[in-house]
Formats: sequence, C-alpha cells, structure tokens
Amino acid sequence: MNHERSRELYDRALSVSPGGVNSSVRATMPHPFFIERGDGGHVIDADGNRYVDWVMGYGPLLYGHDLPDSVESAVQSHAAAGPMYGAPTEVEVEHAEFVARHVPSVESIRFVNSGTEATVSAVRLARGHTDRDKIVVMRGGYHGAQESTLVEGSPENPRPSTKGIPGEFAKHTLPIPFNDPRAAKEVFAEHGDDIAAVLVEPILANTGIVMPVDGYHETLRDLCDDHGALLVFDEVITGFRVGGLGCAQSKFGVTPDVTTFGKIIGGGFPVGAIGGKAEIIEEFTPAGGVFQSGTFSGHPVTMAAGKATLEYAAENDVYEHVNRLGRKLREGIADVCAERAPEYTVVGTDSMFKTVFTRETPADTTDSCADGCRQDADCGRYDTCPKTGADVAAAETDRWERVFWQEMKDRGVFLTANQFECQFTSYAHTEADVEKTLAAYREAI
Ligand SMILES: *Cc1c(COP(=O)(O)O)cnc(C)c1O
Repeated sequence: MNHERSRELYDRALSVSPGGVNSSVRATMPHPFFIERGDGGHVIDADGNRYVDWVMGYGPLLYGHDLPDSVESAVQSHAAAGPMYGAPTEVEVEHAEFVARHVPSVESIRFVNSGTEATVSAVRLARGHTDRDKIVVMRGGYHGAQESTLVEGSPENPRPSTKGIPGEFAKHTLPIPFNDPRAAKEVFAEHGDDIAAVLVEPILANTGIVMPVDGYHETLRDLCDDHGALLVFDEVITGFRVGGLGCAQSKFGVTPDVTTFGKIIGGGFPVGAIGGKAEIIEEFTPAGGVFQSGTFSGHPVTMAAGKATLEYAAENDVYEHVNRLGRKLREGIADVCAERAPEYTVVGTDSMFKTVFTRETPADTTDSCADGCRQDADCGRYDTCPKTGADVAAAETDRWERVFWQEMKDRGVFLTANQFECQFTSYAHTEADVEKTLAAYREAI
C-alpha cells in the first residue's frame, strides 16, 4: 500500500498545526492517512487506497458516507437558502419535537454545537438547579474536552487529567469506578448534600465498551433521588445508536433527569444537545437563570440533517440492519478469538463493537456471551472480563495500536487506532464488508 501523498500532507500539516491534526485521536502512527472521500461503508485515502471504514467519524455516521436522498436534499436546500441567521427557524422546532416524541426523558431540549458543549452546559445546569458544586463522574468515562470532567483519581484525591486545569477546579469532581455500586453509595454517604449530579455514560463507550452490571443504573437513580441530585446520562455516543430512537435509556429502562446528545443527532454535522424534564431544562436562559448561548446553536443545516436522519431511521429498517451487522461482527470475532486468542474479550451491543485485548484466559471459555460481553454474572468469563475503565486500560493497549491496528490497515480495514475507542456499523455496510473484516481479523490477531 502506497502512502506517499498522505505522508506529504502530514508533513505540511505538522508545520501549521499542533501534531498535524485537529483532534488528538487522529494522529495515528507513524502518520495518519488523509481521506480523499467516502463511498458507502468505505473511505478512499489521498493515495487511492480503499478501506472498509468502521470508525464512522467516531460515531456520528449512522448511514456511512452515503446519505439517504432525503437527508442530502434537506442539507442542500438549507445550505442554499443561506446557511444561518441568528434567528429561529422552523426546522429546529421540528427536530426538537421529534426528539421529545421519541426519547422517554426529554420534554424540552437545547441544541448546541458539540458533545463537549452539551456536557459543559449540563454540568452548569445541574449546579444551577441544585445550588450545589460537586459532580460525580466515572473513572474511564469521557464527556468531551471540558474542565469539570477531565479529572482522575478518587473522591478523596481528585486531580486534573491534563495540564491547564487548576487543581481547585478538580476538587469539585468526584471520580468513582464504573459498575461499583458500593463506591457510589460511599460517595453519596460522604458528600450527598454537596452533589449536584452524577454524570455517566449509560455504557462506557470511550474506554472499551463496558456494559453496566445488573442494577447499576437503578442504584445511581435511587441515590440521586434520595439526595436531591440530578442523574445525567451522557448519550452523546449511545444516543440514537443503542436502543434505536429511544436511546440507551429506553434499552435499560432507567429515566435520567437530563440527557446530553451529540454525534448522530446532527446527521454528520457539528452538534450537541441537552434535553430533559421541562422544569429543569427551562432553567437555561432566557427562560431561567443558568446562562447558555451560542452563535451557531440550532444551525439550520445541522438541524435539517439531524431531523432527516432520524426520520429516515424511523421509517426504514436502519437499526435492524446496523444491529444485525454488529451482531455478525461480534459473533465472528468471538469465533476468531476462541481459536487464536481466548484471553481476548469481545465487547459491544447494537451497532457498536470492539475487542478488548484482555490478558487473562478465563477458566471456562465455552459459555461466554458470543454477541458481546454483557456483564452477565453467570457467564464463564465474568471473573476476567473488563468491568471498569481501569480493567480496559490494563489490557494490551500497545499491541492493538502498534501491531494489530497496522495489520488491519494494511488489509484495507480502518479501525480506531487506540484500544479505547469503539467501532460502528452503518446502514451502508454490507455482509461482504463483514466477511472481509473477519478474514483480516483471522490473519491479524
Ligand atoms: C464524543 C463524546 C463527547 C464529546 O463530544 P464532542 O462532539 O467530541 O465534543 C462527550 N461524551 C461522550 C460520551 C462522547 O462519546
């Protein structure tokens, strides 16, 4: 595979932008390949190489690179009408109505421009609503590039996970391990009167894919209710992907007070949103006293793309298709692993999949969740499967990035380069893409 032009472009990029990229995960080793265009479930790079694309823009692309006609024409007509106005448009009302109709917890919604902006605003909203400062987050959870959540450590000793955040800020964030009800109860016993919100991904989806253990979200729901804190589900990645149009909250049957969205809800354009009970969301200005504003918020092109995307999914077999391919991949990869690497754990649900390169072979490999780890206590792998962000981080993360990812790339399969981010199926992917990918897995793993 020739990568000459990508190497040249990267060389130029390094002269004018930090690390040569605009988002850190894109700086793959030894250099990223630059994309020329998409084609269905594939991308073609600057040197003309074609890859099956399971990265899907890191989550937003439910249809791959071929938009349904209705989405494409909605985008084009709104772009042609003049891109944006600084005054409201009908399409943002229609998009809000659609989301409120389909997502159990959403009565009212504010659209913003990124998932990060959504979680920043949700944290401010929770603090304003409760008149409290502290936020509980999960270790290994991800809520975008924001001050309140780039925090690691423990409730007793929280510290910023990056340079540039004052230690004083981090003190208001209490990181606990995911899937550990006892740690959640302890943090509320200690800090209950100061906790504004628990901010949690319904499924850890940026550190492997870790499903909640039975009853975990119910425990969080009860603790929040008992202590007057808000339960905030960060569905930026799971929203309109897991659980179909009802999102992960409908799959798990737990109703958060506030939900953050991003990715798919903008149909491939920059987006975020904060939805929930009207009495809470209406604390945003100008209805209430929590300041929130944005030049590009509710951008007509994004709103048109997002609305047409979700409407198309409501009227076609989109989730059936993407979930079926997701299952085929997970089952197929589980077969490959059973043969070649029984210590590895296949994770994922619906249209998300990943293989965590866990190190320990379970005593009983016969009876595992073939369709992705479910955190099922009766499963033979339960003692060795990853249940927290730390468990995923303890896997062979370097092997994924330095060997396996490269080998898959050389075989024309594009996965996320690090061990932590997950892969996605789209409506444009085919059975042939799955077969090609499984054949590559068999050789590369
Ligand atoms: C991607 C993601 C974000 C950040 O969204 P951006 O649009 O990248 O700012 C926040 N939370 C979760 C769960 C995400 O997956």
